[in-house]
Amino acid sequence: MVKIERSYPAPCSLAVEEQKKTGSYEKPDVVERLKKDFHNKCYICELKNLQDPQVEHLFPHKNGRYPERKFDWNNLFWACGHCNGVKNQNKYDEGILDCCRSDPEKEISFGLKEGEIELKRLSSREDAAIDRTMSLIWETFNLRNTGMRVYKSEMRMKELQKEMNLLFDNLESLKKDPDSGFLLRKLKVLLKRESAFAAFKRCYVREHIEEYPQLKEYIQ
Ligand SMILES: [Zn+2]
Repeated sequence: MVKIERSYPAPCSLAVEEQKKTGSYEKPDVVERLKKDFHNKCYICELKNLQDPQVEHLFPHKNGRYPERKFDWNNLFWACGHCNGVKNQNKYDEGILDCCRSDPEKEISFGLKEGEIELKRLSSREDAAIDRTMSLIWETFNLRNTGMRVYKSEMRMKELQKEMNLLFDNLESLKKDPDSGFLLRKLKVLLKRESAFAAFKRCYVREHIEEYPQLKEYIQ
């Protein structure tokens, strides 16, 4: 999970739909804007170019029990169906980190060690939302309580591994040719917040920055 810059003002349809009895929070203007603001990446698992994107509510509206949450632009997020489903458990009802307001990379370190997701708390800030966020991200890569979740969790692990290997290959090449403009351009793209699994890649480079000081500006 990385910081997202939400654009304003809110899409126009939200205020209109809120007045209707069965209004929709996913009119084309909302969908287009979320897709753009979130770089068509699930904000929870960071999978890119989603086939099954969904408009997710950070704080659940519970079938309209909390109507003020349903059409609130600040409460709408871009997620994949898998993460939306995993998050739909009571233990996440009190909310996870709002990545449009705070920077998750300052709160959590994201690691992949020997094929396992390793999340560590960085800040001692008393905020249970940080712990819920770590738990949720871990679950989206590991939950295997249904056949479909076995497949979807494993698929995310494989994609993450692939992306990390791409990063490692480029870092290895950079060690041999530290001033290569070509490699630096490739790494700059790989480390952008909008890239797939950016939190994991950026965290790895941050933790090994003394080996690659020339990458410092790319992980700011
Ligand atoms: Zn996801």
